Amino acid sequence: MLPTSVLKTAQSEMLDWHGAGMSIMEVSHRSSMFTQVIMETEQLLRELMQIPDHYRVLFLQGGASLQFSMIPLNLMNNRPCDLVNTGYWSIKARQEMSRFGRVREIASGESSQFWSIPAESEWERHDDAAYLYFTSNETISGAQFAILPHPQGNVPLVCDMSSDILSRDINVDDFGLIFAGAQKNLGIAGLAIIIIREDLLDRSNPDAPTLLKYRTQADSCSLYNTPPAYAIYMTSLVLDWLKAQGGVKAIEKLNQEKAALLYQCLDDCNEFYHAPVKPDCRSKMNVVFYLRNKTLDDTFIKEGKLQGLFNLRGHKVLGGMRASLYNAMPLAGVKVLTTFMRDFAQKYG
Ligand code: PMP
Repeated sequence: MLPTSVLKTAQSEMLDWHGAGMSIMEVSHRSSMFTQVIMETEQLLRELMQIPDHYRVLFLQGGASLQFSMIPLNLMNNRPCDLVNTGYWSIKARQEMSRFGRVREIASGESSQFWSIPAESEWERHDDAAYLYFTSNETISGAQFAILPHPQGNVPLVCDMSSDILSRDINVDDFGLIFAGAQKNLGIAGLAIIIIREDLLDRSNPDAPTLLKYRTQADSCSLYNTPPAYAIYMTSLVLDWLKAQGGVKAIEKLNQEKAALLYQCLDDCNEFYHAPVKPDCRSKMNVVFYLRNKTLDDTFIKEGKLQGLFNLRGHKVLGGMRASLYNAMPLAGVKVLTTFMRDFAQKYG
C-alpha cells in the first residue's frame, strides 16, 4: 500500500506539477524539471539510508528480477559466487545467476522448508567468491534476517532488499550492492533502485549489452535512455513522507510494534492459527500464517474484506494467509486485523 497522503499529493499534482502547466508525466526526462525530481529523489534516499559518497544510486527499469541477470553479468567476472538459499526469491536469483557462472550454495533453509534461515556461523564462505548473495526478506514465506550478514574479506555482500528496504536501519557500508524493486516500500512498480559501491562499477563483462552495464547507468545518472519517470516521481513522494514520519529509525520502531502485535495475536490464538516461521526469523514485513482448519480460509478472506482487510491470501505457492505490513501500513490497520483475527478465532474456534 501507499500512504494516503502520497496518493493525494500525486492526485493534486496530476494536471499541473509545481506550476509547470503540465503533469510530471508529460515533461521531458531531459528537462530541468525532471532533473530536479531525480536529483531530489537520490538526495532523499542518501539522507534516509545514510548512503556514503563512494556509492552510486541507480534508477533502473526491469524490476528487481532484472538484477538477477545484471548482477552476475556485471560482477561475476569468471568467478564463482556464493549464495544463501532462503527460498523462493533466492532460488529465482540462483536460477538466473547459474546461466552466467558457478553459484555455490553455502547455506540453505530447505531442510526447514525455508521456515528458518541458517545461522551465519554455519555458512561455508569462500574467499574467492565474486560476491555473496542473499535475500534479506523472503516476501512469500515471511522469513527475514533478524541480523544482516557481516562482510568478510574482500567478498562484497549483494542483497535483494526488495521487500524490506527502508523498513529498518542498516549499514550501507557493509554492502557491495543493494537492490530493490520500488513497489513495496519505495513507491510503485516499474522502477528498481540499485545502490552500488563505486569500485564494483567496472567489473562487468566487456561484451555485456550497453544498457545492462552498471557503468553506463552510473555515467549517465540513470538517464542513458528514458527512465521510468513517473515511478521515480512517486518514489520522491514516498521518501518525503518517510522523512516526515521521522525517517528510518522511527519507522523501524513502528514496524517492530506492528509485527509484535500481530505475532502476539497468532501466538495467543495458537490453537486456531499456525505461524510456521521460526520465531527468530519472523518477518516484520510479511507475516505468514495458516488457519488450522483450512476449510475456513474462504470465510476468513470474505469476512476480512468486510472489515476493510484486503490482500490477506497467501502466495499461491504456499497457500494460507499473508499479512503484509510494509511501511505505509499504519498501526491502526494492524489493530483492525488483530481484532478481526481474535474475533474470528472466537467465533469459529
Ligand atoms: N525479490 C523479492 C524479495 C521480491 O519480493 C520480489 C517481488 N515480489 C522480487 C524480487 C521480484 O520483483 P519484480 O517483480 O520487481 O521483478
